Amino acid sequence: MEVQVWRADVEERVVTNEPVPASWEQLGGRSLIARILLDEVPATCDPLGPFNKLIIAPGLLVGHMVSSCDRISIGGKSPLTGGVKESNAGGSTGLKLVHLGIKVLILEGTPTEDKWWILHLNANGGRYEPADDLFGHGVYQTTQRLLECYGPKIGIALIGPGGEMRLTAAGVQNLDKDREPSRISARGGLGAVMGAKRLKAIVIDSSGGEKPPLADPELFKSAQKHYTKELMDHPQTASYTNYGTAAMTRMSDGFGGIPTRNYSSGTFEGVEKISGEAMRDLLLARGGASNPTHACMTGCTIRCSNVFGDVKGNNIVSPVEYETIGLIGANLGIDDLDAIAHINWELNDLGLDSIEIGAALGVAAEAGLMEFGDARRAMELISEIRQGTTLGRVLGSGAAVTGRVLGVGRVPVAKGQAMAGYDPRAIKGTGVTYATSPQGADHTAGLTIRAKVNHLDPKEQMEISRISQIKMAGYDTLGICLFGGFGFAKTPGSIRDLLKGRYGWDVGDDVLQELGRETLKLECAFNQAAGFGPEDDRLPEWMTTEPLPPHNSVFDVPNEDLDRVFDWT
Ligand code: SF4
Repeated sequence: MEVQVWRADVEERVVTNEPVPASWEQLGGRSLIARILLDEVPATCDPLGPFNKLIIAPGLLVGHMVSSCDRISIGGKSPLTGGVKESNAGGSTGLKLVHLGIKVLILEGTPTEDKWWILHLNANGGRYEPADDLFGHGVYQTTQRLLECYGPKIGIALIGPGGEMRLTAAGVQNLDKDREPSRISARGGLGAVMGAKRLKAIVIDSSGGEKPPLADPELFKSAQKHYTKELMDHPQTASYTNYGTAAMTRMSDGFGGIPTRNYSSGTFEGVEKISGEAMRDLLLARGGASNPTHACMTGCTIRCSNVFGDVKGNNIVSPVEYETIGLIGANLGIDDLDAIAHINWELNDLGLDSIEIGAALGVAAEAGLMEFGDARRAMELISEIRQGTTLGRVLGSGAAVTGRVLGVGRVPVAKGQAMAGYDPRAIKGTGVTYATSPQGADHTAGLTIRAKVNHLDPKEQMEISRISQIKMAGYDTLGICLFGGFGFAKTPGSIRDLLKGRYGWDVGDDVLQELGRETLKLECAFNQAAGFGPEDDRLPEWMTTEPLPPHNSVFDVPNEDLDRVFDWT
C-alpha cells in the first residue's frame, strides 16, 4: 500500500490522495505538523477560520506495535495560544491510519453550511456522511453509536460538545485499544479547530489495510527485542505499571510542587487520599471493572493506564491520570478519588482538557464561584459548560479567559495555556519549559522532575529543560510515549536501528536529538511568524514575586537563561 498524504476538504467535501513531498518524508508526528504549518498555514490566520488546518500525523515508528511507540499527533494553529500546537495521544488512531498508508491526514477549509459531518476513511479512500443527529451528544454516546453503525474494529477520533461549541479547552478524543474514547489530544483547543470544520468524528476502517513494509526485518526485530528488554528491566517501568502516572502525586507533593488551591501552595494535606498508592489499593479492593494496570494501545508492555470502577464493580472512567488528580484534585482542594473520577468522566464526555478546566475552576474558586474542596459545586460549574451558558463558555475557554472575565490576577498560564501538575516555583526546570516551549505551558514538552538536580536552584535549570525539550520533541516525532523513553535511555542505538530497519535510512546514534532540534526550530519559526517574541517566553509576573509554601520559593530563573534555551548553535 503506497504511503500518501490524504487531504480532506471539508468545504467541498472531497478527499484526495497525493504523493509525500520529499521534504516531508523523514518527518512524522510533531515535526511533520510544524513543517506543514510553515508550508501551508498563514501564521497570522484565525485558528478557527478557513485557512487553519487540522493535521493528524502518526509518528515515524507507528505501525508495528513496538511497545508504546504508536502514538498519534494532532496539530494546527492553536486557538488557545495563537501559536503552533501539537497534542499527542495513545490509543488506536495512529496505528489504523498507518495501516491505510496515511502519512498524514490534513483537514482543510470550513464549510459554509451549518451541518455536521463524519469523515469515513477506508482502503478505498474517504467519504463524508451526515452527522446532524450526533450534534450535542457526548463523546461516550457518540462512540457507541459509531461502533454500532460501523462495527467494533474501527478507530475513531471525535469531539464532544466542547469542540462543537468551539471552546478553546476542547480536545480531540481517540479510542483506546478497548474502544474507550479516553485518549485525548487534549491541549491547545484542537477540538475547537475540528468543531470549526463541522466534523463530529473521523471514522477509520483499516480492515483492508496492512502493516507498513520493513526495509530490514531482521534489524528491526532485533532492535525491537533489545528495546523491549531494556524497557522491562528499567526500575521506573514497574512503578508506572503498578501506579500509573498517579505515582507522580506523592512525588510532586514531596518536592513541594503539587498545584494546590489555585497554585497557592505546593503541598496538599489530602495527598495520601489521592495518591497513586491509595488509588491502586482502592481499585484492587473493588475488583470488578477496576484495574490499576491497563494498556492504552496494543503492544504496550508498561501499561500505565487504569480502569477506575465504583464500589459495585462498574466502570466509572478510564483512566484517572496524575494531571487530572493534580488539577481537579489538589488544585481544587478535592481529596476524594471517586469525585475526581466522576468529574474526569464528565470532562471526557464533553471532550475537554482536564488540565485547562482544572486550572480554570481553580481561578473561579479564587473568584468566589466555589469553595475549594466542594466537588459538587465543581460539577455544577462543569454542567454550565454542557448547557452552554455564558459562564460555562467562559470556563470552557480556559484559565486565562476565566481570570480576565472574573478579575483574578493569579492565573497559572504561559502563552495563554494552563500549567500542568508541577508548580514552576518548586520544579524550576519545568518552569523553564512552561515559559519557553513553543507549545505554551505543557509538561510533556519537557518535564524535568526526574533530573538529578536541586529543583529549587535557578542554576542548571535552563540546561536540563533544553535537554528534555529536545528529547521530547524527538519522541513526539517518532510516536514514542514519554515512558517508552525508559527503554531507550541506555540504548539510543535502538532508535537508529528501528528507523534503519523500517525505512532503510542511514541515521546516526544522535537521531533523536537531531529530530528534536529540527522540530523545535520549525516550531519557533512558526511562532515568530505569528508574532511571538522573547517577551512571550516568560511566566506570569506573580510567580516571580509570590513565594510558594512550603519552600517559599519564587520562579527566579533569569530571563537571560530563558532567552538562551534554543540558542544551541
Ligand atoms: S505507557 Fe501508558 S500512555 Fe504510554 S503507551 Fe503505555 S499505556 Fe499508553
